[in-house]
Amino acid sequence: MEAALRELRQRLAEVSDLSRSAGVLGWDQRVTMPVRGTEARAEQLATLARIAHERFTDAQIGRLLDTLTPHVESLPYDSDEASLVRVTRRDWEKARRVPVELREQLTRAAARGHNAWVEARARSDFASFLPYLRENLELRRRYAECFEPDDVLYTALLDDFEPGMTTTEVADVFAVLAPALRDLVAGAPTVDATFLHGHFDPGAQRAFAERILATLGFEEGSWRLDPTAHPFCTSFSNRDVRLTTRYNERDLESVWSSLHEAGHGLYAHGIAGALERSPLAGAPSLGLNESQSRTWENLVGRSRPFWEHWYEPLRATFPDQLDGVELDAFVRAINRAEPGLIRVDADETTYSLHVILRFELEQAMLAQEIALEDLPEAWNARMSELLGVDVPDDGRGVLQDVHWSGGGFGYFPTYALGNVISLQIWSVVRAALPDLDAQLAAGELRPLSDWLRDNLYALGRKLTPKETLARVTGSDAIDPGPYLAYLGAKLDGLRT
Ligand code: ZN
Repeated sequence: MEAALRELRQRLAEVSDLSRSAGVLGWDQRVTMPVRGTEARAEQLATLARIAHERFTDAQIGRLLDTLTPHVESLPYDSDEASLVRVTRRDWEKARRVPVELREQLTRAAARGHNAWVEARARSDFASFLPYLRENLELRRRYAECFEPDDVLYTALLDDFEPGMTTTEVADVFAVLAPALRDLVAGAPTVDATFLHGHFDPGAQRAFAERILATLGFEEGSWRLDPTAHPFCTSFSNRDVRLTTRYNERDLESVWSSLHEAGHGLYAHGIAGALERSPLAGAPSLGLNESQSRTWENLVGRSRPFWEHWYEPLRATFPDQLDGVELDAFVRAINRAEPGLIRVDADETTYSLHVILRFELEQAMLAQEIALEDLPEAWNARMSELLGVDVPDDGRGVLQDVHWSGGGFGYFPTYALGNVISLQIWSVVRAALPDLDAQLAAGELRPLSDWLRDNLYALGRKLTPKETLARVTGSDAIDPGPYLAYLGAKLDGLRT
């Protein structure tokens, strides 16, 4: 058993090294690579993906799992060894269903699609993006067909991001959210936020963001923050966390965008060291991962206690722009609900409506219920119904997000699920940390990040998403109740 476990760990460590190396190339592509590097980078990523896939799906891994399974059955369910064997078995069986050529094609098409999207978005030119969208969608359909989901094909794509969750389960949660959110948005008070728009020096924004991030609980020398077009977070180990953000000189969104990515980063940073270089080093689902970016961005980063500490430093950084703006007015402005065109700029209340639109459209695309040529029109019509806004051009409409350019269908729902889950976990955090508000107001973020690390992040992928949620909250049901109650109370509080 010891020898088999050692060999399994060694093989999995190599696969992890290969995928983390591909991660470095992917980070570089999105942060520093000159645009003409695209074609070669696509080949490099495809090669690494192929080798990692071949190594992981090797029959010897299956034999090792067969040898180890009876031995780990006597161990505790959440022990590192039992979890490693169980989770690797699930990943291995899933990966074996995907032919290596298809895996390579998916990676190459995603890398090409990315740059086509960057140019198409800049020129608001959907037609130039269409062939790449078509190719990525077609390859994803072939990928989905490698599996036999219980309900619809879309569930197979969803499963990559929300393991074990069906399209129907997501649709049920969204069926509660959509009408409730539309009502909340329709009834939201108008709040003056003109002072949030002006000129904010990007260098000063960067210094301010780094100052906050240094207090969250990252070990010094284990993270960095870089500017990019479309912010994301990645990590190459739990001690090499890469945060990205963007600085718009017209607003302060970089504060919340940085906190958002830092929430993902804290998750990666908090994964137990013993799980490194194995399939257990990650979050169980994107919904759980996103619940933490949302926690830091919104539940912390838009709360009054947080700004009781940070507002004076912010005002000292931008004295002209925030001249005469009191803390209360600032907190009201950053918590307002206001329909807009862009998902990543959306406030907490309207945000999930942007996601629901994408969830509907990508199901229709996959089921071939909509011609891709008609996608912009369908997008604009639904934006008008759900959010009451008119889309002036495709750059601010159907082309605004990176996901579909890389074949990331099934990803969007995780954002809204993250919002919902963040409040389920937050209720538990509040009970566990009765002095939380006082700590936030004193600028002490460590008690919160330590609690989340010990009770959630450290688990990595040892448990399924539902098991993880149950471990933290006592229930495995995804319940939109706390999220809607939180938004309702927040918007009520703006009516003075
Ligand atoms: Zn996120």
